[in-house]
Amino acid sequence: MSSIPNYDVTVIGAGPQGLLLATWLKIERPSLNILVLDRAESPGHKIGESTLSGFCRAMRSTDIRHEVLQRLFYTKNGLGFFHSDTDTPDLQTAPEYIIETFDETFQVERRACDGLLAANAERVGVSVRWNHRVEPEDSTFKAGASYLKCKTPSGSTTVTTRLIVDASGPASVLARHFGGYCESNVPFQTSATWAYFKNVKWLDEYRGWQNAAECPRDEYTQHICFKEGWIWYIPIVSWQKAADANLKAMLDYLAEPENPVLIRDELSQKFDCPYEQIWSIGIVLRSDRDRVSPQGPQATFEHYQRKLPVFAKLLEGAEILENHYPNHHPYAIRKNIRRFAREVAGDGWLSIGDAAFFIDPLRSPGLTGGVATAYYAMGEILGAFDEGNLSRSRFNRYESFVRDLYEMLEEQNQIAYMSHNHPQAISLVRRFGEVSSRAHFNGVCEGPYQIEDTNVWGHLHPEHRYRQREIWQIMREEEVEVGDRRTLEKQDPRDYERMMFRLQQAVGEHLDRYMGLTPYITNNQCEQTPLALAEATPKPHWVHPAAIADRQPTPLVAGWR
Ligand SMILES: Cc1cc2nc3c(=O)[nH]c(=O)nc-3n(C[C@H](O)[C@H](O)[C@H](O)COP(=O)(O)OP(=O)(O)OC[C@H]3O[C@@H](n4cnc5c(N)ncnc54)[C@H](O)[C@@H]3O)c2cc1C
Repeated sequence: MSSIPNYDVTVIGAGPQGLLLATWLKIERPSLNILVLDRAESPGHKIGESTLSGFCRAMRSTDIRHEVLQRLFYTKNGLGFFHSDTDTPDLQTAPEYIIETFDETFQVERRACDGLLAANAERVGVSVRWNHRVEPEDSTFKAGASYLKCKTPSGSTTVTTRLIVDASGPASVLARHFGGYCESNVPFQTSATWAYFKNVKWLDEYRGWQNAAECPRDEYTQHICFKEGWIWYIPIVSWQKAADANLKAMLDYLAEPENPVLIRDELSQKFDCPYEQIWSIGIVLRSDRDRVSPQGPQATFEHYQRKLPVFAKLLEGAEILENHYPNHHPYAIRKNIRRFAREVAGDGWLSIGDAAFFIDPLRSPGLTGGVATAYYAMGEILGAFDEGNLSRSRFNRYESFVRDLYEMLEEQNQIAYMSHNHPQAISLVRRFGEVSSRAHFNGVCEGPYQIEDTNVWGHLHPEHRYRQREIWQIMREEEVEVGDRRTLEKQDPRDYERMMFRLQQAVGEHLDRYMGLTPYITNNQCEQTPLALAEATPKPHWVHPAAIADRQPTPLVAGWR
């Protein structure tokens, strides 16, 4: 058995969060020896394609140029939401809300995205080793001196390291090893099924949109929302046909800040990396409402095409890709998406990204929420090295940050699902989130990723949390009450009128006041009916969400411990 010499930090997992954390650490403290291990042979296909501003800013803060992202990936300029039902004939007339772009972001193919992050990490001096599967059962863990056993194609090896960062995604190697990973009995569970297509009709070719959008509708991650869940629509520039070595050469070239950024066709020719246009389309379903997904992913797709005319039209003439990605069946499935580690730190280790928690892809919070944990962890790790204290107690603050973030995102996600009960609820809760996000973003958008960005979209602000909790409470009460009276099949938006009334009372005045922070509303004059109810009890004025105050600890939402 071979051994790898001492490292200060060893990261398990060369996904985006592990690679970004390693790169930040190396940039901040070049004297640290940093190793990233991944069980895969090379960067490969993964789900998680729609990025938000926080994640793109994080990439740019490690000197990855925006132009490089423009060449590699499909442009994304916001998030679109349609309300759809069995009798909604087409998307153009469906109730719609768009969170217009904060800045340009991208729909990424993960092999290219993770490969670019790996090339960039290596450029700054991080060691990245593929084909190294960490086996925790044969490893020992101690603050300042852990031994990690890794399986390699030629046998095994041991790494000696002062600190371990678990960035192993849903594998969550350390939390599972220490018995603290929670996948069952997680409330409000959801499951996803998805496939890749060619020849999908561009939304921009549809005629008769009722409202104006700032950008072509293909440049938004589209969400078609219905009672049981939602459908995603994501155009992707796919480099999958490029050989590993060629893609690596192109990404190494692009990671070098001095190299000219050629246009996409020139890059493709220079490195012999063909690319093509494909679409990622998937369905995510609430386990308490959907009855079809146990029949399998293809049956689920077919069922919802029959049920929702807009979905059938979306896929009209589209060709499913049978073998585009290796080990990817034409229809993929991920059951019980929600999961979390009960403990995200221990003596000599901490967990970041999906290894700490993942909630649900609705509104694409995965990479941006995850990168907040990576950046926060980076600061705590540097402090821990400075103090010579790598024990669990040193990471208490990190643990409570992760818990707050998890709870905020979980509550926010449940609100989003419950808003599908009524078309206007979708726009109301989207606007509620957008007002705080845009106010926060306007305050921090200049310069590189920074600690303020870890307050993802400003939604950890105590006043936002307070209102969010109120919204959750109203929606939950109403959903339970309607559910007691009517089966899901019989429910329609009229059953949720009282919910709408209560929501308008709770946040209508606030949304009216910050109308200027919701461009889709201001650009579509016809939508500008005030939400505040004349008879509503006056609410105290909010402090603007961008005015960050100290965060208070908040009660639990969903069974962290
Ligand atoms: C259906 C679905 C749709 C999603 N859509 C989006 C989206 O649109 N936008 C978004 O932002 N997020 C999305 N996500 C979430 C997103 O995929 C994750 O948040 C993101 O991939 C997490 O990054 P990570 O670096 O934490 O982990 P990962 O990207 O999962 O990387 C973990 C790495 O660890 C390695 N590893 C695992 N075990 C070991 C081991 N024992 N030894 C060594 N290496 C190991 C793996 O090979 C892998 O490379 C989606 C998730 C799902 C389930």
